[in-house]
Amino acid sequence: MIDPAAISAALNAIPDPEKGTGLLAGGRASAPRIADGRVSLMLDVTGLTAPARDALDTAVKQALSAIPGVTEVRVALTAEKVGRTIIAVGSGKGGVGKSTLSANLAVALHRAGVKVGLIDADIYGPSQPRLMATEGQRPEAEGQKLIPVMSPHGVPMLSLGQLVKPGQAVAWRGPMAGNALSQLLDADWSGCDVLIVDLPPGTGDIQLSMIQKHKPAGAVIVSTPQDLALIDATRAIDLFRQADVPIVGLVENMAGYLCPHCGEVSDPFGTGGAEKAAAQLGLPFLGRIPLHIDIRIASDAGAPPATGEGMISNSFAAIAASLTDWIKQQKG
Ligand code: ADP
Repeated sequence: MIDPAAISAALNAIPDPEKGTGLLAGGRASAPRIADGRVSLMLDVTGLTAPARDALDTAVKQALSAIPGVTEVRVALTAEKVGRTIIAVGSGKGGVGKSTLSANLAVALHRAGVKVGLIDADIYGPSQPRLMATEGQRPEAEGQKLIPVMSPHGVPMLSLGQLVKPGQAVAWRGPMAGNALSQLLDADWSGCDVLIVDLPPGTGDIQLSMIQKHKPAGAVIVSTPQDLALIDATRAIDLFRQADVPIVGLVENMAGYLCPHCGEVSDPFGTGGAEKAAAQLGLPFLGRIPLHIDIRIASDAGAPPATGEGMISNSFAAIAASLTDWIKQQKG
């Protein structure tokens, strides 16, 4: 006979990786079912990274197998589904870090356990193959569908840059760009709950038709702190509003200069501009990313800083967490 109290005690002796409470007490584990020598339970692994999930699964199996009378432990892992959600990342103009944010947001979401894919729709300068270290790789097709390329960072991705020669897409007119984007969005994204789409910068017809045709669930707007960039950001916000796409919030990039030598933060472009603008526009402020040489160096080397540890990686993780909360809220 198995002592149910021993099972409960063993589950509560394992700390929840997020909350630190016992697994039963914190609600991570369901009430176990005991039949003969078999113990079965469900573990809610929402929000955990793949390694954390595996470690928890192993810890539970080991702890329960050690209890007298237990001959078999069955653990079913479950996670709250957020559904396939398209999130557009836009900016009023180029060079503000829209592609950098898209890549790092995708990596940070992946690290948080979200099944995420990345689409690079920037016809003017598709830079995701370089940022995600998939340069030179061509997606294969199965039937009519493209198969996304797997980046070494665990995020599947497709870029216009993988479909055309460098520089070729710039000459595209609206319909051609729209068709190419459709190919990317209609690819085989099975297994992805969230798609991050790096849009072309600016607020022209191409952007508007892309947004209207493939209506994203929400848009993240990137801006630098300068007034001028913010005026551009306001135009980008109007573009999404025109197409009835809700704005998730504003991200301020290059927000303060983080000195690589002394670690001091200074503000060559001023600070808090985007936060103020967000408040004035009644939009959530999602966070700020400092101006730091490591971001450019790591990005150019195909190693998004969100893959690492430390302050910069944490900034991206915080924005990813806000985005996940927003998606959950939308899904009710
Ligand atoms: P966009 O997609 O808006 O055109 P990018 O993401 O390509 O902009 O960024 C433009 C350049 O600025 C790139 O060289 C990138 O590495 C660099 N960059 C972006 N954000 C930062 C930052 N926070 N700190 C330092 N360099 C950055």
